[in-house]
Amino acid sequence: MSPAPELKATLTLPKTAFPMKANLPQNEPLRLARWAELRLYEELRKAGRGRPPYILHDGPPYANGPMHLGHALNHGLKDFVVKSKTMAGFESPYVPGFDCHGLPIEIKVDEHLGRKKHEMPVPAVLDACRAYAQKYVDLQTSQLVRLGCFGRWDKPYKTMARDYEARTLEAFYGFLEKGFVYRGLKPVYWCIHDRTALAEAEVEYAMHTSPSVYVRYRLTSDPGAIHPALAGREVYTIIWTTTPWTLPASMAVALHPDFEYVALESSSELGAPGPSPLGSGDAKSTGPVYIVAAELAASVASACQLDAPAELARFKGSVLERATFQHPFLDRSVLGVLATYVTADQGTGAVHTAPSHGADDFYTGQRYNLDATTRVDASGHIHVDPAAWPFATPPAFEGKTVWAANPIIVAMLEESGALLASSDLEHSYPHCWRCHHPVIFRATEQWFIGLETPVEREDGSQTTYRQLAIEEIDKVVWDPAWGKERITNMIASRPDWCISRQRIWGVPIAVFLCQGCNQPIIDPALNRKIVDLFDREGAEAWHTTPIEELLPANAVCKNCGEIRPPGQGFRKEYDILDVWFDSGTSWFAVCESDLDLKTAYTAFQNNEGVPVLYLEGGDQHRGWFHSSLLTSVALRGHAPYSHVATAGWTLDEQGRAMSKSLGNGVDPVDIANRMGGEIVRLWVASIDFREDMAASENLMLRCADIYRKLRNTFKILLGNLHGFDPARDRVPESELLPLDRYMLARTRELTEKIRAWYAAFEFHRVYHAVNEFAIVDLSNFYIDVLKDRMYTFAPTSHARRSAQTVLWQITEALARLVAPILSFTADEVWDHLPPVQGREPSVHLAQFPAPCEIFSEDPTPLLDEWKQLFAVREEVMRKLEAERQKKSMGKGLEAKVLLHCGPESLATLKRNSTSLKEFFNVSDVELTSEPIVDSDGQPTLNVRELVGFEFLPYVEPASGHKCARCWNFMPEVSDYGIWQNVCTRCQSALKEMGIAPPQPTQ
Ligand SMILES: [Zn+2]
Ligand SMILES: [Zn+2]
Ligand SMILES: [Zn+2]
Repeated sequence: MSPAPELKATLTLPKTAFPMKANLPQNEPLRLARWAELRLYEELRKAGRGRPPYILHDGPPYANGPMHLGHALNHGLKDFVVKSKTMAGFESPYVPGFDCHGLPIEIKVDEHLGRKKHEMPVPAVLDACRAYAQKYVDLQTSQLVRLGCFGRWDKPYKTMARDYEARTLEAFYGFLEKGFVYRGLKPVYWCIHDRTALAEAEVEYAMHTSPSVYVRYRLTSDPGAIHPALAGREVYTIIWTTTPWTLPASMAVALHPDFEYVALESSSELGAPGPSPLGSGDAKSTGPVYIVAAELAASVASACQLDAPAELARFKGSVLERATFQHPFLDRSVLGVLATYVTADQGTGAVHTAPSHGADDFYTGQRYNLDATTRVDASGHIHVDPAAWPFATPPAFEGKTVWAANPIIVAMLEESGALLASSDLEHSYPHCWRCHHPVIFRATEQWFIGLETPVEREDGSQTTYRQLAIEEIDKVVWDPAWGKERITNMIASRPDWCISRQRIWGVPIAVFLCQGCNQPIIDPALNRKIVDLFDREGAEAWHTTPIEELLPANAVCKNCGEIRPPGQGFRKEYDILDVWFDSGTSWFAVCESDLDLKTAYTAFQNNEGVPVLYLEGGDQHRGWFHSSLLTSVALRGHAPYSHVATAGWTLDEQGRAMSKSLGNGVDPVDIANRMGGEIVRLWVASIDFREDMAASENLMLRCADIYRKLRNTFKILLGNLHGFDPARDRVPESELLPLDRYMLARTRELTEKIRAWYAAFEFHRVYHAVNEFAIVDLSNFYIDVLKDRMYTFAPTSHARRSAQTVLWQITEALARLVAPILSFTADEVWDHLPPVQGREPSVHLAQFPAPCEIFSEDPTPLLDEWKQLFAVREEVMRKLEAERQKKSMGKGLEAKVLLHCGPESLATLKRNSTSLKEFFNVSDVELTSEPIVDSDGQPTLNVRELVGFEFLPYVEPASGHKCARCWNFMPEVSDYGIWQNVCTRCQSALKEMGIAPPQPTQ
């Protein structure tokens, strides 16, 4: 005979196979495998057919390394958007992309190949680059898949794909044929190490030591023409430079037209014929005279140790225009020119001007028609201008790098007596962002897109390309709003877009240049032919296809009339396009061309209300947002997007950027492997992404802690659904107990809010609201007060089914609402929910709950009513606590609550009377409109007014007897077999459960 079961064992405790321990690192990969087996992404597309489209166009991350936390942040956010849009009823495909061309990969491959590269044919080098990029495309793909990001990962777009390369070239031809492109000499940042031009964005500033030299230039024009006091004197001006290697390119001295300049006579220094009276200003003196800006005279005199200089004359800079000077070591006349950028902050006020090596210099040179030919080659080796070097032996700097040339040139200056002072200067200097070497300015032949190109608006009116781009910015929704001003300012002030790079890993600017005039052949039919070639064979074709196969034998240059074959007339251009041009044309190569996107994207372009979102880090205002805007405005007349959202930076807890040297980096892959991808996702959701986001091991652990609490709530919810079959047991809304109705109203309210927050990308609000709901509303309140009903009532009783109905609806709603963020766990919960016919095999195929399906009425009146009930509860709890303090009572169940009510509160409380006992967690509640009276029949207390609601709680010991099973104080308890003191409610529950009264063992 087995012993009688314990009475406790007859309680209906929560039961579920949903494990408390998540084991995310082990279980997430299993769920990924299941999703792959379900072909979930394809199923989502099938389910989305016919729904309104929503396009999030992925900006391609650069495929040259593993994913870092910034990627995880961006992709996590994108995944939230795509999933929440999908569950809100949109068709939101996600075609991920990868940026594959460009210098960083080419440099890495160069390092790998070493000397071998020079013996390899170009296509073989390109193959090596392709393989390198593909390796990281694969790695990043696996990492993003691991984090649970949904997308067309088996067919992403890659800027190195043949069709993408063909579209990039086609876009370039679009610019060329529409007249946006010109070829010109321009000073650009140049990295001699990487042998390429750099965009502004590719330059970073770091400290660098340069030689600082003061050099005198002897005046060769008539000094008397400048000022009568100078007539017949030996006159110089002094220039100051920190780049002596640019002196061989010195063509002019720039002076400010409005500054005061002084002519100083020094009594003794280099080259002076002998001592003369101190500060005499003696007109008979024959020493040299120096012209410098008046404001800088003292500092120059001091730097150059001009002894007690006296001012001979004073005049405006404008009088020096077209004065001539002798170059200090070349056979060249240097021109006096005027420029308003000359400052009086440092230097001498007379600025050495090398049009081939400075932006200001270049434009000044254009005004004065100065030679801007660069005699520094791509690798930074300097060559003498033969027109200015009459000697047979080349100068010592010939063939040296600019850095090696510096001391040689300083020595030449010293030898010629032109050097007045020399020292070292440590200053902030531009460096290459890739190789971190200092860069130089170099005038080179480059391809440009002109921002001032005239264009036509849609209405036919004329404007400029720049202006139209600015007008288009205005039509886009920028989130956060400051992005609009930022990109507007950048477009307004940017120089023409230099789109050429002198490298090979990229899309070649596939044009033929005339050998006669250096201009490209612009022939749309020829261009289409080359695009077709790229479509078939990729960019390699440009290197492998002989010119004869492409260019007709009788091709003529429309510009100068050059023809081939005489002199072979034309050559291929091998410069490649800026990678920002590649990625900036993704709206064309992907959105307009990809079968999964083009219908919806075309609808967007036709103003049919389809949203197109770009979501990236805040630096993309000068990157991808910027280049995409420019290409789309030029080729389509419109911005390529309707919405742009930007994320802040990921920083450590102290607000510092993450770096290897600080060791404060957080690796999302490592976190996923140790704690779970879900924890990374929860972290992404936890902070407003518009701000900078702090991340650390510590913060990840905190997210893991929050995760455990959420998971625990899900486990209890699921446990309480044991034995509940929605089809059989669901209680109609009108028959629910008052407390359960309230919880449904609350769930509806939460659902409405969460849906609105998803729509506004307020993921952190979703995160906080879900946490609060799970912990405060569910764990600490509803699930807690339900214990009596759930554990002790007959399992199939109406009251228990009422609670289960609501717990089920809450779990259903919550699993869907958190699915975009907690993608793994929501799906796991989904698997453990009571089976429902026709249910989707994954939560991700389900939709967000419709608020009215959760609760059919406007929830506000009910929620307001319960605000008052909660105020009553608070007072009751205070009273109970006071009794506990007095030790007159222990648990709430030992108490009975007597509530004296005003008329309004009485009506409200009565309406909800069946829920009050559990709401207060006491054994009995009595409502009365009678005031409490003392022995004389006088009211002892006034009914208290609270929230416009009159009530006064009074607590007394519950009457009756404590039930051994449910611990309630009940009017009737009796023995149930050998079990003593079991209340009638529990007895009928036991009967319904088929538990016969246990008999004593013999
Ligand atoms: Zn470099
Ligand atoms: Zn020509
Ligand atoms: Zn009982």
